[in-house]
Amino acid sequence: MLACQSKAMAKTLRLILGDQLNINHSWFKKVSADVLYVMMEVHQESTYVTHHIQKITGFFAAMREFASALTQNGHEVIYLKISDQNNHQDICKNLIEIIRKEAISAFNYQEPDEYRLDDYMKKCCERITIPTEVYGTEHFFTARTELAQFFSGKKTYLMESFYRHMRKRHSILMDDDKPIGGQWNFDHDNRKKLPANHTPIAPFIYQHNVNDIVNEIEAAGLKTIGNCNANAFIWPINRRESLEVLEWFLNHALPLFGTYQDALTTKSWSVYHSRLSFSLNTKMLSPQEVCNAAIEHWFKNQDTISLAQIEGFIRQILGWREFMRGVYWAQMPAYAKQNFFGHKKDLPDWFWTGNTKMHCMRHAIKQSLEHAYAHHIQRLMVTGNFALLAGINPDAVDEWYLGIYIDAIEWVEITNTRGMSQFADGGLVASKPYVSSGNYINKMSDYCSSCYYQVTLKTGEKACPFNSLYWHFFDRNRALLEKNPRIGMAYRTWDHKMHETARTEILEQANSYLENINDL
Ligand code: FAD
Ligand code: SF4
Repeated sequence: MLACQSKAMAKTLRLILGDQLNINHSWFKKVSADVLYVMMEVHQESTYVTHHIQKITGFFAAMREFASALTQNGHEVIYLKISDQNNHQDICKNLIEIIRKEAISAFNYQEPDEYRLDDYMKKCCERITIPTEVYGTEHFFTARTELAQFFSGKKTYLMESFYRHMRKRHSILMDDDKPIGGQWNFDHDNRKKLPANHTPIAPFIYQHNVNDIVNEIEAAGLKTIGNCNANAFIWPINRRESLEVLEWFLNHALPLFGTYQDALTTKSWSVYHSRLSFSLNTKMLSPQEVCNAAIEHWFKNQDTISLAQIEGFIRQILGWREFMRGVYWAQMPAYAKQNFFGHKKDLPDWFWTGNTKMHCMRHAIKQSLEHAYAHHIQRLMVTGNFALLAGINPDAVDEWYLGIYIDAIEWVEITNTRGMSQFADGGLVASKPYVSSGNYINKMSDYCSSCYYQVTLKTGEKACPFNSLYWHFFDRNRALLEKNPRIGMAYRTWDHKMHETARTEILEQANSYLENINDL
């Protein structure tokens, strides 16, 4: 499909990374015979963690589509497939060879979103003997440093204040200097449990044939996790398809997005979530256009879409997504080593198979292996919640999240995992640990009624593991958490509302579960 040699006498070589598929970037406004673009599938990027097979397939497919679109628009592109003989499987080695072979006189690249690659490209540029220049990706609302400047001198970062700043700065859902509807936050109206008689609409999916790519991945010996139906790959792989998914979301899921944002159910793997994270993180879609399209759609359909739904959605993209990017650049590289609780345990084996008796965990993990996707509350309040309660080493937790999800790129994965979910930063991102007993999961889901364990029990063979682990977590971390004003209630309940015998039995139950974690 794509030529592996260039024909023109290109002078400037421009690298496009796999998550820089922004066809509206100013680089591509003009077709020039003096510019040669290069894209490459390399072992280096496919093995730094064990990725889900759908993640690698999705990236390769989207990159190939992007290179094809550039070629069709008249740009000259060198595309190195993972299977190409002349591929050194290393970005810098490939660049140095192309520069030599094509008599390149200048090299350009766009700012990588990951610290690891950013550092690598800086070092690579020292090895490249021609002039190099780095460009912005023209994707985010914010520059890398904007959040650090906004919170300068502060010990914690409050998403809500950053989000309000973003709403004002970009005039989004604003009525002059006031939020539309007079409220910044509609969380109170949102986040409901799915009624028993309600089945969410089935998500719109693709059925791509990706056999060639899957075969090449296997032939290249890349180790992967998860499943992939190579005859029916479900994810959008180009901009047109990404826009179709956006359009489908606006018409079919946005009306109930906020309402069931936190709902957990066996009836659907995506509930009313947008599934746009892969398209956004590869930059096939820009956050600005997604926000604009959503607001325009809401504006025209206010009779069916409430302000609470659109505000809930904008908060995720303009708020959380930009916030996490800012935290990442403010805190890396030290952030990747944070382990506030000193957690050391390995992940249980069943994190790689889903074979556990806990229905909530089984459902979230099996669906992640099946679709390379879980929605936010599955990630935060099921798998993340368990990992934190059980005291799993955040390095292992990060590695799992970074590998398994189609949208996992370190800048947004690590801030969510190590920060929001595992509280390993000691409260920089979240003001208290996101932990719960089985009660919350039961309240928000239909899992517990068909679980081996009983959600009402704290001790005994059938006791829900979340219950005893919850108290074990607070008990063992008392010195680190007791002074947190948002947690006092948990300690008051533990200390004053539970009998000493009950406390001892609960801790024994938790210890027994932790010792036999692979059997849960
Ligand atoms: P929707 O619920 O439809 O939300 C719309 C969009 O808002 C998303 O596509 C995403 O771009 C953005 N968004 C929502 N929540 C967040 C958030 N907390 N941080 C940043 N952006 C957000 N998101 C990733 O993109 N990549 C990751 O690797 C990733 N890892 C996560 C790990 C953990 C432990 C947790 C708790 C969350 C993680 N998230 C990650 C955030 C969030 O769960 C996903 O963005 C979301 O589930 C993607 O599905 P969606 O597109 O259907 O999202
Ligand atoms: Fe999960 Fe406990 Fe409910 Fe089982 S009983 S589904 S383990 S919360």
